[in-house]
Amino acid sequence: MTVAAVIVAGGVGLRAGGERPKQYHRIGGKPVIWWTMRAFATHPAVSLVQPVIGEGHEEWFKDAAEGISTLPPITGGSTRQDSCRIGIEALVAHSPSKVLIHDAARPFIDPELISEVVAALDTTPCVIPALPIADTLKYAPGGIITRTVDRAAMWAAQTPQGFAFNAILDAHRRVARDGVALLTDDASIAEHVGLQVAVIQGNTGNVKLTTAADLSAAEAAMSAKAYADLPDVRTGQGFDIHAFAPGKAVVLCGVSIPHTKKLKGHSDADAAMHALTDAILGAIGEGDIGSHFPPSDPQWKNAPSSIFLEKAVSLLKSRGGIVAHADITILAEVPKISPHVLAMKGYLAPLLGIGIDRIAIKATTMEKIGGIGRGEGIAAMAVATVRLP
Ligand code: MG
Repeated sequence: MTVAAVIVAGGVGLRAGGERPKQYHRIGGKPVIWWTMRAFATHPAVSLVQPVIGEGHEEWFKDAAEGISTLPPITGGSTRQDSCRIGIEALVAHSPSKVLIHDAARPFIDPELISEVVAALDTTPCVIPALPIADTLKYAPGGIITRTVDRAAMWAAQTPQGFAFNAILDAHRRVARDGVALLTDDASIAEHVGLQVAVIQGNTGNVKLTTAADLSAAEAAMSAKAYADLPDVRTGQGFDIHAFAPGKAVVLCGVSIPHTKKLKGHSDADAAMHALTDAILGAIGEGDIGSHFPPSDPQWKNAPSSIFLEKAVSLLKSRGGIVAHADITILAEVPKISPHVLAMKGYLAPLLGIGIDRIAIKATTMEKIGGIGRGEGIAAMAVATVRLP
């Protein structure tokens, strides 16, 4: 009895704003689809996860699937219906007995509901979770009410929608052959060919993220969930300084800022990222950058400092911890830092696995006092707060 899950992520979903589809926006430090896929990939009843992605989304997906075991993603079609059929067809080779079809944009799916849908498939070939409607329903074509709909028998459909595999495969093939298009969920496909679809109680938390407001609410909820299990709060601090040398740009927090000089150092001399790396290492008592990446070792020459930060974050993660907040102060007479702060946060956020609202980057001059005040180099201080189990 193999249960497979198709995760439908083909949509362009730009209503939520930004350049990338909503399923690749980060909430709680991870892409929306990461949370969704993890729920299925770690569920004991589900043995195969087939992601269906949009054309040209391969790189986003690769980043979003980190650490999650799925079948290779398959490129979907121009509609949700096509994408689902393509995902189901891709599973034929694995001949599962049951399939769950789930929206990538529903990351709060809880394991209980997955179990309930799988269990219901023992007694019925098609089942969907849905919620009863609390509001009075009006039928108002053109904005004028023509009647009030009896809500007693009305349900709002959710996913995962569960099916006997061969039944939904056959239904999708028939609907495609008949040229019926734009059915918005898989239950509609089953209904269209006359299959009976049962309804079980859905979950109010299992929301579909659509708008920018949905994503902000989801960020707050997912962070709270992620942090709730990590009561051991620790703080570390770091400091670094690098002198100027002839050059064309300085690199700070991963962002190259055009300047008449560069910072001198063994790596890319990103003093701000070095300070942050030391702050995280400090918070978990794991020495400092120098102890992990000795300057005497030629392999770190001209290395991007992201590898140092990634190492510190991976040490934290290996203990089950996450970063809660990072606060960086850059001490520089020149160049001007503030126009680059947003880009810096954008660079650090995925490395730290947190949203940009958990990163502070400030800059100050030294009022011409001391070496930095005389424009001899740049220093940075950082404080990192981490949470551990
Ligand atoms: Mg340094």
